[in-house]
Amino acid sequence: MKKFTASFNYIKSTGPRNEYALDSSKLVRMIRSWGATLAGIGDVRQGLAREFRHIPVGISIAVAHPPVKDSIISKGSVIAYTNQFPQIDALLVNIQKRIVSYLRSRGWKAFAIPPDTDKYDPSFAARLYPLFPHKTAATCAGLGWVGKNGLLVNPDYGARLSWGTVLTDAPLEVTREPYLKGECHGCNRCVEACPAGAIRGIQWTRDVAGTPLLDIEKCALQMEYHRKVIGSCICAHCIVACPVGRRGKVLSLKQNKISTN
Ligand code: SF4
Ligand code: SF4
Repeated sequence: MKKFTASFNYIKSTGPRNEYALDSSKLVRMIRSWGATLAGIGDVRQGLAREFRHIPVGISIAVAHPPVKDSIISKGSVIAYTNQFPQIDALLVNIQKRIVSYLRSRGWKAFAIPPDTDKYDPSFAARLYPLFPHKTAATCAGLGWVGKNGLLVNPDYGARLSWGTVLTDAPLEVTREPYLKGECHGCNRCVEACPAGAIRGIQWTRDVAGTPLLDIEKCALQMEYHRKVIGSCICAHCIVACPVGRRGKVLSLKQNKISTN
């Protein structure tokens, strides 16, 4: 395991600090025992806005989605996959609270960035999304890469996960090597499956993280069309089409409707 060796400007903390009590592997095991499917710890300094540089360790947490066949909504000619699961987000928030409480009780600063579905919440934390996306913590923690579809792709679950992040100044060890580039290689299934032609087919690399992988306007127009027809801003053909972490043949959303995951 790679030792995290940053030096920090510590901020006043509430509890007695005991850095020897912090063990990354133990913390990851605890997080998984609280219900996370995946958890990892990374050095996120490269992706941090100036506002966060004093809390440079990212704890990335993910919970897997239910089977695709249970999450398809269709009406008329529109078929979409919902990747919004309130029960999963509630679990992520609960896990984040436990992590924050655990770290603060040991004297470290800890700050939770809530799951993506809260991103329209006007609260302070939700306004931080543009400054620190969950994808950054997940790639730094070695839990996956950013796919051509612009989503975090994990080798075992593809893009069928919801994510949360806790930032901290606790001196935790990095749990895995970070992903520095995408592993999509010659695959273009999400590009071909996107009904809006919004995915540009660009391979992500961390050094050019600002390159737009999607035409956001085209994606938003497609979502708006779905909202009018089926009443929900959902689409996610690009999630279902992804073969990563799927056993056997990967089916399109249309085929998934009549098949199993
Ligand atoms: S959500 Fe739909 S429109 Fe947007 S990129 Fe994915 S497949 Fe394309
Ligand atoms: S469908 Fe293929 S190209 Fe798209 S994210 Fe998945 S692996 Fe990458």
